[in-house]
Amino acid sequence: MKLGILADIHSNLEALRCVLGALKDIDGYLCPGDIVGYGPNPNECIEIVRELRCGAVAGNHDLACIGILDPRRFTEDAREAVSWTINMLTEDNRKFLETLPLRLEGDGFEMVHGSLRNPAEEYIIGLKDGAATIELMKKEICFVGHLHTSLVIVKDKAGKYDGWQLNDGDMVDTTKFDKVVINVGGVGQPRDMDPRASFGIYDTEKHTVEIRKVEYNIIAVQEKMRKANLPDFLIERLKYGR
Ligand code: ZN
Repeated sequence: MKLGILADIHSNLEALRCVLGALKDIDGYLCPGDIVGYGPNPNECIEIVRELRCGAVAGNHDLACIGILDPRRFTEDAREAVSWTINMLTEDNRKFLETLPLRLEGDGFEMVHGSLRNPAEEYIIGLKDGAATIELMKKEICFVGHLHTSLVIVKDKAGKYDGWQLNDGDMVDTTKFDKVVINVGGVGQPRDMDPRASFGIYDTEKHTVEIRKVEYNIIAVQEKMRKANLPDFLIERLKYGR
């Protein structure tokens, strides 16, 4: 089975559509959180996630937009986008966000937005925080989001930790390791200095995860964000992927 991994969609409909167009012969989808926040199309993105029957977990932005997480912990721009999103969300879509669990488990994998220590809010950036999550893992693979950067942290069969960034076309063969934490990068607001929408393809039979990045119409999204009066910094950063 092949599963498309769609992390940090962040209400970016153009990016999400391009990613779905690039995913061929896919049997299902996983979303490691942050469907909404930052971008101009929260309802449309939630509706696609619902239609695709994505296995999804809640991200910190999803939780802030339904009043579960205090947005005072966010940057001012992110907070502004949260307030805007709260006003835009339909009752039905808000209720859907309320159903999202913090952690999801499947055959061979588990998934959280941040980390297993703190599912909604901790960033896995390097070996130290990666190792802390690895020690809590019950499955071979843990999909995370939150950082908006594609990277992998592994514990090899000798018990040694390692980690590296992943680029377009990179494939991780998880059978080579004891445990693997993977962030496939962000669909809707990538931050690895590559503005392309980033996503993953998890092959559950070969136990591989491939990273892919596709271009999308950034200008169209920026225009919508300007019309919605979303913060300039959030509009500008899409162009640079940071
Ligand atoms: Zn995010």
